Amino acid sequence: MHVLKFGGTSVANSTNIKLITDIFLPHPAAQKIVVVSAFSGITDQLIACGQLAEAGDERYAEVIKGIEKRHLDTTRELLPVSNQSACLSVVKQLCNELETICEGVFSLQELSSRSKDRIVSFGELLSSKIISGYLQAIGHAHTWLDSRQLIKTDSQFGNAAVVFAITNENIRQAIAQSQEALFVAPGFIASNEHNLTTTLGRGGSDYTAAIYAAALQAEALEIWTDVSGMMTADPRWVSNAKPLPAISYQEAMELSHFGAKVIYPPTIQPAMQMKIPVWIKNSFAAQDHGTVIQHETNSDNGFIRGISSISNISLISLEGSGMIGIPGFSKRLFEALANEKINVILITQGSSEHSICVGIHAADIQRASAAVNAAFEIEIAGKKVEPVAVESDLSIVALVGDQMKSHPGISGQMFSALGRNGINVRAIAQGSSEKISLQ
Ligand code: ADP
Ligand code: ASP
Ligand code: MG
Repeated sequence: MHVLKFGGTSVANSTNIKLITDIFLPHPAAQKIVVVSAFSGITDQLIACGQLAEAGDERYAEVIKGIEKRHLDTTRELLPVSNQSACLSVVKQLCNELETICEGVFSLQELSSRSKDRIVSFGELLSSKIISGYLQAIGHAHTWLDSRQLIKTDSQFGNAAVVFAITNENIRQAIAQSQEALFVAPGFIASNEHNLTTTLGRGGSDYTAAIYAAALQAEALEIWTDVSGMMTADPRWVSNAKPLPAISYQEAMELSHFGAKVIYPPTIQPAMQMKIPVWIKNSFAAQDHGTVIQHETNSDNGFIRGISSISNISLISLEGSGMIGIPGFSKRLFEALANEKINVILITQGSSEHSICVGIHAADIQRASAAVNAAFEIEIAGKKVEPVAVESDLSIVALVGDQMKSHPGISGQMFSALGRNGINVRAIAQGSSEKISLQ
């Protein structure tokens, strides 16, 4: 079994869909699951659609018309005329359903995270149904898998956590019951115990593919995208970034956690657990080697694997003499953030235990400071702790490499490079394999 995931640009239009079909159809694996993202840009448009409807703005209907047109046009371009009607009516039916939901949002002027998940799910439903329709039209037997029925999650809409015990069983049963060699499945979408649609977080189709691969102990997970592998840095910022031929699971996890968007961070875990190699390959240059992510890599290519970065970071600091030596302060801080479901990206603590700094996404800053101020209300009133201090407009820059810890002088080099360029370092954290600075 091989699981191949094709991202938004790889399925963006009829030309690209034909291109990726030429990649997965001749693929030698005996069984394959093809997981697809929404056409590029569609998830953003669906979110905009929900937001316009919520704001009482009738232009949401135009956005839906645009989405429908793009999918109908793609279907017409892909399928021979004689085979089009079934697929065109699936597209129309899905777009009608989307419209009905948005009408509800428009009349109530309320967009819950539950409705938002339902709305964005149409992106992957449409793309996977069209690709399935195309395969059928060109005579390739396959089964369309409903990822919503197979992948079960909790009810954290927008970023749901997978219930692996049930999910693995569902996936194994679905594949065991079928004689099929080829499956097509939408990425990103799942459902909770009440069968309400949930999603796995932005970029989550990579994760869907890893979930299928791990459940079936696949021989390989292939993430097909628009670059020739995981690179030493984000190619949009660094023109001489180079693809890394091989990296460890740990290194891939850290590069992606700190901003290498090419792979969604949770993807690595299920693959690593089952020791499944993950390939990152370029749909537009299939012959390029790409990157293989696996257990061990040799350090022939140097001990720094790459640099990644995240913008729009805010730093909240909790400071005060009342914190010194008293156990449980940090527990309360992180509890307050966890209760608000705020993702903590970086943590540092002053050696005097006087202060704890936490790096979070700027979008979460208001909720985070309110939650932490509320959690320490008594200490703040008693002047033992200062109200939370907030700094914004920061970025995290992470230097990643498994072998870095045994090579002295690397952080010195990094700090002098930042210093020479007039970049002020606000906080640093060093894990077992990474060094991070917050500027
Ligand atoms: P897909 O739609 O295929 O999932 P994404 O847009 O999510 O593709 O991810 C691929 C993009 O990730 C690349 O086009 C590239 O701009 C960006 N990227 C950021 N950091 C890195 C990196 N270190 N290596 C490769 N690509 C990166
Ligand atoms: N379509 C979803 C997104 O844009 C999931 C994905 O592409 O991986 O976030
Ligand atoms: Mg992606």
